[in-house]
Amino acid sequence: MPHKAPQGTAGRLVRRRFIAAGAALAGSWMLPRALRGAQAGNGLDAEVIVVGAGLAGLNTALLLEEMGVSVMVVEATSRFGGRLHTVADHIVPGHPELGANAAGGGYARLLNAARQYGLEIGPMRPRTEPREGEMLFCIQGQLIREEDWPGHALNPYRQEWARQMPPSRPPYRLYAQLNPFPESDLGAWRRPEFAQWDRSVGEVLTEAGLAAAAVELGAGLNSGYGTDHHDLSALMMFHTISFAIHQANWPDAGGAAKGGNQRIPEAMARHLNGDALLSSPVAAVASESDRVRIILEDGRRLNAARAVIAMPFSALRRIAIDPEPPAAQKAAIDQLGYTPCTQIHYAVKQPYWERDGMAPSMWTDALPGRFMALKNDPGNPEAVTSCLAYINGHAALKLAHMDEEAAIAAVSAELFRLRPSLKGALAPVYLWKWSNNPYAGGAYAYWKPGQITAFAATMAQPHGRIHFAGEHTAQLNRGMEGAMESGERAALEILEHL
Ligand SMILES: Cc1cc2nc3c(=O)[nH]c(=O)nc-3n(C[C@H](O)[C@H](O)[C@H](O)COP(=O)(O)OP(=O)(O)OC[C@H]3O[C@@H](n4cnc5c(N)ncnc54)[C@H](O)[C@@H]3O)c2cc1C
Repeated sequence: MPHKAPQGTAGRLVRRRFIAAGAALAGSWMLPRALRGAQAGNGLDAEVIVVGAGLAGLNTALLLEEMGVSVMVVEATSRFGGRLHTVADHIVPGHPELGANAAGGGYARLLNAARQYGLEIGPMRPRTEPREGEMLFCIQGQLIREEDWPGHALNPYRQEWARQMPPSRPPYRLYAQLNPFPESDLGAWRRPEFAQWDRSVGEVLTEAGLAAAAVELGAGLNSGYGTDHHDLSALMMFHTISFAIHQANWPDAGGAAKGGNQRIPEAMARHLNGDALLSSPVAAVASESDRVRIILEDGRRLNAARAVIAMPFSALRRIAIDPEPPAAQKAAIDQLGYTPCTQIHYAVKQPYWERDGMAPSMWTDALPGRFMALKNDPGNPEAVTSCLAYINGHAALKLAHMDEEAAIAAVSAELFRLRPSLKGALAPVYLWKWSNNPYAGGAYAYWKPGQITAFAATMAQPHGRIHFAGEHTAQLNRGMEGAMESGERAALEILEHL
């Protein structure tokens, strides 16, 4: 049996088993001649070093190992999974996801990996979009029931169809209507013929007839992508919509791994043959004539024939790369956007919704962002297991710069002011910030206006002996499946060179 992936083992080298002799022999007939029996040799620690043990890095490593390449994985934190991070039940009941929540039906690589490693895929666990009729709106300090929203004086939408929708929905309807891409053409967003749409969603939504206040409310606050409506490219949102429709049309329903999505990368890591170094942040990478040198923050040096950097660009921009990448790639590493996201999880002490007779979840235009009552107990699907203030945009950035106590106090005070029945009904149990996490830098990549045109085509190109993977380098898919796709592309690139 492979070793169980350890958690929290500072700086420890995790030695993995090697494939059983019989399996290796059988497999070797399938491998290209040059790779048969390949060993690192020449003072190398492995043929390939993969930096980052998220889905992208793990998928790269597993695919290369399948082809007989020796691989070492180097990871900054003490766990596998990166932006798949399931918080334990004893910390927040119902083990909500801090990172990726839902896999679409067309997440073929991810769902395959989960099933291959014996994990069960359960239903989606809604986090930021509660079931219909379970939402209350809190706009300019006023609590507004869903049924009162269409006729409410604070509803800024002029169009009747838009007035009927929750505040953040109309922009998505417009992205779907304006989307110029052929159906299921998931590569269209990178083609120059659509570059005219590489401008801000604010500009595009205004041209489509939304009032300034409606653009601000619908796309400027609580935006799932970007910081606000000025710094997000409409071209990216068209791709997001195409991708969502593509997923919805798939016969497989998708969902989430039972026990938490982090079980997927953990299972992948257990099937690595090579070594994995946890708690080993990389500080510098140098591509030389015959090798790549990886220098860890603690001074250790590793050598390989090739390296795959499978970390977000927001983390990579803290690392020295020698020689410096070409200008467009350097600009991408330094400037690609990462969506701000701060989460405060609460245990529920009293059913406040019974006390005030209103829906348990609340979409706000204020500091707490989307306040969600999560129902994460499969045995009791109507029970609220925990609540979550899911905060994006400028509010998330503001909180990211506060210490934990101050951030929790600020959000809780605002919640109690907006909805007095929450006072005494909630206990804060966990705070998580993606934005100023040095190994994430935000929830996921987003493209600012002009960035797709400026560097989407070149940012992931190999730089000497350095290759790039990660969801931000995916060409067709987004999120978890994008990360898996990018790992596949990086592995194929390497095979061409070894
Ligand atoms: C809040 C949130 C919600 C999301 N929701 C969804 C969703 O519902 N569906 C979906 O498909 N996707 C979703 N995603 C996106 C999804 O989680 C990511 O796209 C995917 O997990 C990224 O995988 P990756 O391997 O590219 O990067 P990561 O998972 O970030 O892996 C990169 C790894 O590199 C490591 N690293 C960083 N710096 C260094 C260093 N200096 N040295 C060594 N290692 C380093 C990191 O610690 C990390 O383990 C969500 C993400 C977040 C945060």
